Amino acid sequence: MADECLFCRIVRGEIPATLVAENASCIAFRDLGPKAPTHVLVIPRKHVESLNTLDDPALVAEMTALAQQVAKAEGIDGPGYRLVINTNAHGGQTVFHLHLHVLGGRQMKWPPG
Ligand code: 5GP
Ligand code: ZN
Repeated sequence: MADECLFCRIVRGEIPATLVAENASCIAFRDLGPKAPTHVLVIPRKHVESLNTLDDPALVAEMTALAQQVAKAEGIDGPGYRLVINTNAHGGQTVFHLHLHVLGGRQMKWPPG
C-alpha cells in the first residue's frame, strides 16, 4: 500500500468513488472521466504499480473475474465490451496502480488509438 497513491486512497475510502462491485482482492468503481457509456476500473486492493511489477499473476485472474461480473451487471456482456490494461508511457498509463478498464455501451474501434 502506498500512502500517496490515488487508487490506494480510493481503496482506503479516503477519496470517494462510485463502487459497483468487489471481491476479496479487488474493487470496481466508475471512471471519473468515462470514455464510453460504461467505463469501470477494476483494481487490486493491494498496491501494484503496473503489469510490469506484478509478482502474483493470479491477481489478474481475480480482476478479470470481477470484470466479468461487472459486464453482466451493466448489461454489456451480450453486446460486448473491451478490457484494457495500459502500461507505462506508450501504453498511456497515467495512474501507477494496476487497473483494468472495462469499457462498453458503444461500438469500440480497432485498431485502438
Ligand atoms: P490510465 O490512463 O492510467 O490507464 O487510467 C487511469 C484512469 O483513472 C483514467 O481513465 C482516469 O479517468 C481515471 N481517474 C483518474 N483519477 C480518478 C479519480 O480520482 N477517480 C476515478 N474514479 N477515476 C479516476
Ligand atoms: Zn496504489
